[in-house]
Amino acid sequence: MTELITLTAADLGQKLAAGEVSAVEAAQAHLDRIESVDGELNAFLATNAEASLAAAAEVDAQRSRGEALGELAGVPLAVKDVLVTTDMPTTAASKILQGYRSPFDATVVAKARAAGLVNIGKTNMDEFAMGSSNENSAYGPVHNPWDLTRVPGGSGGGSAAAVAAFAAPLALGSDTGGSIRQPAALTGTVGFKPTYGGVSRYGAIAMASSLDQVGSCARTVLDAALLQDVIAGHDHHDATSLQHDWPSMAAAARSGASRDTLKGLKVGLVKQLMLDGVQAGAKARFDEAVALLTAHGAEVIEIDAPHFEYAVAAYYLLHPAEASSNLAKYDSVRYGMRVTPDGGGTVEDVMSATRAAGFGDEVKRRIILGTYALSAGYYDAYYGSAQKVRTLIQRDFADAFGEVDVIASLTAPTTAWQIGRAESDPMQTYLNDATTIPANMAGIPGLSLPIGLADEDSLPVGLQLLAPAFDDARLFTTGAAIESIITERDGAPFYTKVPSHGALTTGKADA
Ligand code: GLN
Repeated sequence: MTELITLTAADLGQKLAAGEVSAVEAAQAHLDRIESVDGELNAFLATNAEASLAAAAEVDAQRSRGEALGELAGVPLAVKDVLVTTDMPTTAASKILQGYRSPFDATVVAKARAAGLVNIGKTNMDEFAMGSSNENSAYGPVHNPWDLTRVPGGSGGGSAAAVAAFAAPLALGSDTGGSIRQPAALTGTVGFKPTYGGVSRYGAIAMASSLDQVGSCARTVLDAALLQDVIAGHDHHDATSLQHDWPSMAAAARSGASRDTLKGLKVGLVKQLMLDGVQAGAKARFDEAVALLTAHGAEVIEIDAPHFEYAVAAYYLLHPAEASSNLAKYDSVRYGMRVTPDGGGTVEDVMSATRAAGFGDEVKRRIILGTYALSAGYYDAYYGSAQKVRTLIQRDFADAFGEVDVIASLTAPTTAWQIGRAESDPMQTYLNDATTIPANMAGIPGLSLPIGLADEDSLPVGLQLLAPAFDDARLFTTGAAIESIITERDGAPFYTKVPSHGALTTGKADA
């Protein structure tokens, strides 16, 4: 492994600024890494070496002209395939969009490019971001770099696996019910879901628009913060985008590393987020993290959020309802695939044949569920009730944040599980998001960071931190403080523990 790919984005950015390494070298090193490991990971759906190297060369040229560049200029970035890009195809891991090329870049992608980040590839995901294990991709599952027989979480497993396996220092993700945070937990990386509206959704292929939010995946809290500073902010293309003057998340992360901010910090532990059936080794790491927080001056307070227990049930009404409406546009006329039945047929026959062939099982299941939940006669009973539950969850959070500054929980009740379980136990997979979904229901920010390995399986465990809407910076301050304590305890940054696997050495060519 060359040293370049193991650097944090912050350190790589510094080396680039100092002229010790060029953006072209950084891009090439990561493209080589993708070539050598992705046969086993399947984390990428598309790369375009020519475009990536050209973009990197442009950053090098700007630097040599003495132009003022941002801290991440020349740093490679992997992009979840739910975000449209002009330089590579965008499929949302669906057959229905195979080969689709967008005429424009998503706002977050455009902002990243403007900051000099170099798109090095589109990452695999659950089809249309529906899933928690990445097994719903039409292009095969992603494998977890910690153990290739296990899932990396989902839906953003490709972005998380790419970052964990040093195939990219940074990646973009999207989080509708946990798809940035849960894969971060399962791959030992950092994932951040901003306050709803903090980051533009323009060009993020819509799944459940009132829940979807784009955010950052990284190996350290500071790196996630640096990327967040690049992508945050108002966008007139997105009607739900907030007009808000965001403070620097990187400054927050840097100040957190001193740990002073933990003194007197009120940390809430929500009874309803301490789920039954939590893996013992995950719970042990969580209890240790809480003890570390108190040892550094934080005050831990138990709180009650009675409506959280209905969050998963309400989510699986609201989410399919919105998704069924958003996915109506894949009609064989406007985008992507078209299947004409034998002997021709009406527009409806073509539409139905296309959707039957183009969508995977999970997507169909949710479209059917959502259409049913929205149908006349059932709308109030299902969609209407779920909306009321959503309001009650928001009130639970408001009450909780009246008492505490942040809420802490496990990000996921278990470590990464074996590939193949989703088919035999979809309910278990749905329930894996019980801890992450409430934040999306309330639009509040959430951060997941690694806190150790579970004794049973030596796989990463993630800590989730939640804060009130607009208090995103508090998560970076607190997260960086905890990260620095964990690093000191372990004697090395967490991301260095990923087994750099004999298993991760053969390349696509030999696979
Ligand atoms: N796992 C959840 C789902 O399947 C969340 C997905 C996401 O956040 N994109 O819907």
